[in-house]
Amino acid sequence: MIIDLRSDTFTKPSMEMLEAMFQAKVGDDVFREDPSVNELEALCANMFNMEDALFCPSGTMTNQIAIKCHTSPGNEVICEKQSHIYIYEGGGIASNSSCQVKPIEGDRGRIHAKQVLEAINSDDIHKPITALVSLENTCNRGGGSCYELSDLQAIKNICNENNLKLHLDGARLFNALVYKNQNAKDFGTLFDSISICLSKGLGAPVGSVLLGNQQFINKARRVRKVFGGGMRQAGYLATAGTFALKNNIARLSDDHQNAKRIAEVLNKKDFVAHILPVETNMVIFEIQGKFTAQSLAEYLKKEQILCIPISSTQIRMVTHLDVTSEMIDRLVELIEKM
Ligand SMILES: *Cc1c(COP(=O)(O)O)cnc(C)c1O
Repeated sequence: MIIDLRSDTFTKPSMEMLEAMFQAKVGDDVFREDPSVNELEALCANMFNMEDALFCPSGTMTNQIAIKCHTSPGNEVICEKQSHIYIYEGGGIASNSSCQVKPIEGDRGRIHAKQVLEAINSDDIHKPITALVSLENTCNRGGGSCYELSDLQAIKNICNENNLKLHLDGARLFNALVYKNQNAKDFGTLFDSISICLSKGLGAPVGSVLLGNQQFINKARRVRKVFGGGMRQAGYLATAGTFALKNNIARLSDDHQNAKRIAEVLNKKDFVAHILPVETNMVIFEIQGKFTAQSLAEYLKKEQILCIPISSTQIRMVTHLDVTSEMIDRLVELIEKM
């Protein structure tokens, strides 16, 4: 039995989800005739109390569409220096939107209102126009860390005062909502656009949703077409997403519990130098002594446990709905003996 902790993207649809997909009513979504896509978009818009939503093939696409819609060529985007939009989207900000980034060093991926204020360019012809602030919640490279609502509100205020748009890369937003016991509608009020992934811990095979007001989503729909993301009978996939939103949110706390158990046992080991505080479903830790990140990952692989070395000294383990508490028992037992 393989225990796959590489990412929560490795989840496979359950029998119930597949059954729902099999029964889906579909049509051509480019013609807006897919009832299952329409249902998913309405469900998401309603959850976040935002005007409209757009189903897309990936979270990279929802982020890139949002950046394109909120900016003009030559603008600057403020984000954390390890954020997904900056380091993991293939230079898309430059190639899709002809914008540059002003990266900020955050606290486990989270930036402060004061830092945002300092990063905004003055009205000076030498400088690019700052157009957009993009935040990530939970922060992937921050080890699944979450923002406080009050900190987000402070950033929103700065954006309002400086005429900046505010986007949220909420690939794992539901993990944050469950962990912090926060309300999706409060996020809908704070952000001009939100991207959520259905294909991570929620367990759908494919898909992300972009949320915003009507005007924004109309524009986003055009950009999605240009990016090649207009899908036809996408209702089979949308139905998996709807199933995930209806069935797999509350259980995210199990994943958080499992991640805590992994961190607890690692914490006793002298080959572990440091573990980022575990809030949600990720454990990022620093290796020292007898292992390198690579050799530890190889050792665990022989025991059928998969994880990712994210640098020469750091390993990431991610829990998700295909990782059971029995699997965690086995992992804990193994690490205890190491
Ligand atoms: C996974 C992820 C995305 C989107 O990734 P896709 O693989 O394109 O769906 C965006 N942001 C973060 C933080 C992610 O972890």
